Amino acid sequence: MTTAIRPQSGIMDIALYQGGASHVAGLENVIKLSSNENPLGPSEAAMKAFRDASYDLHRYPSSDHRGLRHAIASVHGLDPDRIICGAGSDEIIAFLCQAYSGEGTEVLHTEHGFGMYRISALANGATPVEVKENERVTDVDALLAGCTKKTRLVFIANPNNPTGTMIGLSEIERLAKGIPKQAILVLDGAYAEYVEGYDGGAALVEAHDNIVMTRTFSKLYGLGGLRVGWGYGPAHIIDVLNRVRGPFNVSQAGLNAAEAAIKDVAYAEHCRIENARWRTWMADALAEIGVPSDVSCANFILARFKSKAEAEACDDYLQTQGLIVRRVAGYKLPACLRITVGDESACRRVVHAIRQFKGD
Ligand SMILES: *Cc1c(COP(=O)(O)O)cnc(C)c1O
Repeated sequence: MTTAIRPQSGIMDIALYQGGASHVAGLENVIKLSSNENPLGPSEAAMKAFRDASYDLHRYPSSDHRGLRHAIASVHGLDPDRIICGAGSDEIIAFLCQAYSGEGTEVLHTEHGFGMYRISALANGATPVEVKENERVTDVDALLAGCTKKTRLVFIANPNNPTGTMIGLSEIERLAKGIPKQAILVLDGAYAEYVEGYDGGAALVEAHDNIVMTRTFSKLYGLGGLRVGWGYGPAHIIDVLNRVRGPFNVSQAGLNAAEAAIKDVAYAEHCRIENARWRTWMADALAEIGVPSDVSCANFILARFKSKAEAEACDDYLQTQGLIVRRVAGYKLPACLRITVGDESACRRVVHAIRQFKGD
């Protein structure tokens, strides 16, 4: 390279993000089980709110997100002033890294943790630090041992993607209490809605001054295409994040659809129940044919094969059958495939195909 123009240090260490595939050459009727999308789609009320927003596309969106923040606060019993909305929860993760990490600082994430933590840390010149998990489960002791004077952010997803496992509130609290004073614990709750009775850690956010919870409309609410997420944290941190947030970071169509979606509590509950039902069915059926998985708390299962070669051969076979699942070698799980819980027919199709692959 002859040019003197160079990006900030760290940026060229970011590998370009590989999204879940959605096409197989030459095949129609393909079922996409690679991106943890809701197979039932968004709530009717959310779709109507999105269509209605088309009449006002010439208007700039709300910059304070008041309507959506108040709807979230009332459904979850939170303080609306301590909620921040973003273009997906990815943007909240980016704000946290922009505001609190940087050159000379460290950002912790777990061995099989979500890829955006590392990407956002590198984008801001910080050093991502990977910490071991305990058999695909977040290990609080390892995280605490990984902290140093330079640690600014500790990211865990609970439930985690791509493992599907989670840890309990007392373990999370032990982590929050044990990290250094200058560090923030970020609880990524992208899949929290799939866990009955789990508040995503909201009560822990209330009880401590160093925890931020992130949530999304992309998974259970079926609005991944719209890019809406949110965060909840102590007032002093939310104030900082609002300073780096662009004033029009979420579109009005996104705000309106998300507000309608969160108010449709009955539909969200229906999606949670259907997911749990087919997740159990699929995991049990695969276990019976020699493809085990950890008990998943999310909307996917992490199927374990005998080897990397077997996992890849199974993925190749599934593709010939029009079924797209996710390879997770990039998450240091080369012998696994992550399979999103689809609707009934998708789950039956994928189990049938894996059974054929296994030669049963
Ligand atoms: C999908 C996902 C997100 C982010 O999704 P957005 O669409 O940006 O809201 C965040 N964390 C985890 C662990 C995820 O799987």
